[in-house]
Amino acid sequence: LTIYKGVLDRVVAHARAALPDECCGILVGGGDRVVEVVSTENVAADPRRHFLIDPKAHIDTRRHARGRGLQVVGFYHSHPRSDARPSAIDLAEASYPGLLYLIVGLAPEPPEIRVYRLEAGNFRETAFVPLT
Ligand SMILES: [Zn+2]
Repeated sequence: LTIYKGVLDRVVAHARAALPDECCGILVGGGDRVVEVVSTENVAADPRRHFLIDPKAHIDTRRHARGRGLQVVGFYHSHPRSDARPSAIDLAEASYPGLLYLIVGLAPEPPEIRVYRLEAGNFRETAFVPLT
Protein backbone atom coordinates (compact mmCIF):
# COMPACT_ATOMS: atom_id res chain seq x y z
CA LEU A 1 0.00 0.00 0.00
CA THR A 2 1.34 3.41 -0.96
CA ILE A 3 -0.15 6.72 0.11
CA TYR A 4 0.84 10.01 -1.46
CA LYS A 5 2.63 12.20 1.04
CA GLY A 6 0.27 15.05 0.15
CA VAL A 7 -2.64 12.90 1.29
CA LEU A 8 -1.03 12.29 4.68
CA ASP A 9 -0.21 15.98 5.09
CA ARG A 10 -3.77 17.00 4.30
CA VAL A 11 -5.23 14.49 6.74
CA VAL A 12 -3.05 15.81 9.56
CA ALA A 13 -3.85 19.42 8.65
CA HIS A 14 -7.58 18.63 8.65
CA ALA A 15 -7.31 16.86 12.00
CA ARG A 16 -5.64 19.90 13.55
CA ALA A 17 -8.07 22.37 11.99
CA ALA A 18 -11.07 20.40 13.30
CA LEU A 19 -9.93 20.44 16.94
CA PRO A 20 -11.47 19.86 19.43
CA ASP A 21 -13.72 17.75 17.16
CA GLU A 22 -12.87 14.62 15.24
CA CYS A 23 -12.45 15.20 11.52
CA CYS A 24 -13.31 12.78 8.74
CA GLY A 25 -13.06 12.28 5.04
CA ILE A 26 -12.68 9.91 2.12
CA LEU A 27 -9.63 8.30 0.51
CA VAL A 28 -9.59 7.99 -3.27
CA GLY A 29 -7.24 5.89 -5.34
CA GLY A 30 -6.86 2.74 -7.32
CA GLY A 31 -5.13 -0.59 -6.92
CA ASP A 32 -2.91 -0.36 -3.87
CA ARG A 33 -2.46 3.38 -4.04
CA VAL A 34 -4.16 6.27 -2.27
CA VAL A 35 -3.78 9.36 -4.41
CA GLU A 36 -6.39 11.83 -3.20
CA VAL A 37 -8.21 12.84 -0.07
CA VAL A 38 -11.62 14.48 0.17
CA SER A 39 -12.30 16.28 3.43
CA THR A 40 -15.92 15.97 4.48
CA GLU A 41 -18.05 17.46 7.19
CA ASN A 42 -18.37 15.46 10.41
CA VAL A 43 -22.15 15.20 10.78
CA ALA A 44 -22.08 13.10 13.98
CA ALA A 45 -24.37 14.32 16.78
CA ASP A 46 -21.37 14.41 19.11
CA PRO A 47 -18.39 15.29 16.89
CA ARG A 48 -16.01 15.54 19.85
CA ARG A 49 -16.25 11.79 20.35
CA HIS A 50 -17.54 10.38 17.08
CA PHE A 51 -17.41 10.89 13.38
CA LEU A 52 -19.97 10.38 10.66
CA ILE A 53 -19.14 11.11 7.06
CA ASP A 54 -21.83 13.09 5.29
CA PRO A 55 -23.57 10.40 3.16
CA LYS A 56 -24.13 12.82 0.31
CA ALA A 57 -20.41 13.64 0.17
CA HIS A 58 -19.69 9.91 0.06
CA ILE A 59 -22.03 9.37 -2.90
CA ASP A 60 -20.73 12.43 -4.74
CA THR A 61 -17.11 11.43 -4.18
CA ARG A 62 -17.74 7.89 -5.42
CA ARG A 63 -19.38 9.17 -8.59
CA HIS A 64 -16.69 11.78 -9.22
CA ALA A 65 -13.89 9.24 -8.67
CA ARG A 66 -15.46 6.67 -10.96
CA GLY A 67 -15.75 9.25 -13.71
CA ARG A 68 -11.97 9.56 -13.64
CA GLY A 69 -11.14 5.85 -13.41
CA LEU A 70 -10.57 5.97 -9.64
CA GLN A 71 -12.55 4.68 -6.71
CA VAL A 72 -13.24 5.26 -3.05
CA VAL A 73 -10.64 3.07 -1.34
CA GLY A 74 -11.32 4.04 2.26
CA PHE A 75 -12.01 6.64 4.89
CA TYR A 76 -10.11 8.60 7.49
CA HIS A 77 -10.86 10.20 10.82
CA SER A 78 -8.96 11.70 13.71
CA HIS A 79 -8.54 11.02 17.40
CA PRO A 80 -8.02 14.48 18.90
CA ARG A 81 -6.98 13.26 22.35
CA SER A 82 -5.52 9.80 21.82
CA ASP A 83 -3.36 7.66 19.56
CA ALA A 84 -4.29 6.16 16.21
CA ARG A 85 -5.60 2.81 17.37
CA PRO A 86 -9.25 2.16 16.51
CA SER A 87 -11.90 2.25 19.23
CA ALA A 88 -14.54 -0.43 19.72
CA ILE A 89 -17.03 2.03 18.23
CA ASP A 90 -14.81 2.51 15.17
CA LEU A 91 -14.99 -1.21 14.51
CA ALA A 92 -18.70 -1.45 15.23
CA GLU A 93 -19.44 1.34 12.76
CA ALA A 94 -17.07 0.20 10.01
CA SER A 95 -19.23 -1.24 7.28
CA TYR A 96 -17.16 -1.55 4.11
CA PRO A 97 -15.24 -4.86 3.93
CA GLY A 98 -11.96 -4.59 2.07
CA LEU A 99 -11.75 -0.82 2.41
CA LEU A 100 -9.10 1.13 4.29
CA TYR A 101 -9.67 2.96 7.56
CA LEU A 102 -6.96 5.52 8.22
CA ILE A 103 -6.76 7.03 11.69
CA VAL A 104 -4.65 9.99 12.75
CA GLY A 105 -3.98 10.32 16.47
CA LEU A 106 -3.08 13.80 17.65
CA ALA A 107 -2.01 12.90 21.18
CA PRO A 108 1.50 11.86 20.12
CA GLU A 109 3.78 14.47 18.60
CA PRO A 110 4.35 14.17 15.71
CA PRO A 111 0.84 12.83 15.06
CA GLU A 112 0.52 9.09 14.61
CA ILE A 113 -1.06 7.61 11.48
CA ARG A 114 -2.21 4.01 11.26
CA VAL A 115 -4.11 2.29 8.46
CA TYR A 116 -6.41 -0.69 8.85
CA ARG A 117 -8.29 -2.83 6.39
CA LEU A 118 -11.69 -4.20 7.36
CA GLU A 119 -11.52 -7.97 6.89
CA ALA A 120 -14.01 -10.52 8.19
CA GLY A 121 -15.39 -8.06 10.70
CA ASN A 122 -12.01 -7.07 12.10
CA PHE A 123 -9.43 -4.39 11.49
CA ARG A 124 -6.12 -5.68 10.19
CA GLU A 125 -3.34 -3.12 10.42
CA THR A 126 -1.75 -2.49 7.03
CA ALA A 127 1.74 -1.12 6.51
CA PHE A 128 2.01 1.74 4.04
CA VAL A 129 4.73 3.62 2.23
CA PRO A 130 4.48 7.39 1.87
CA LEU A 131 5.05 8.36 -1.75
CA THR A 132 6.38 11.79 -2.65
ZN1 LIG B 1 -11.93 6.49 16.01
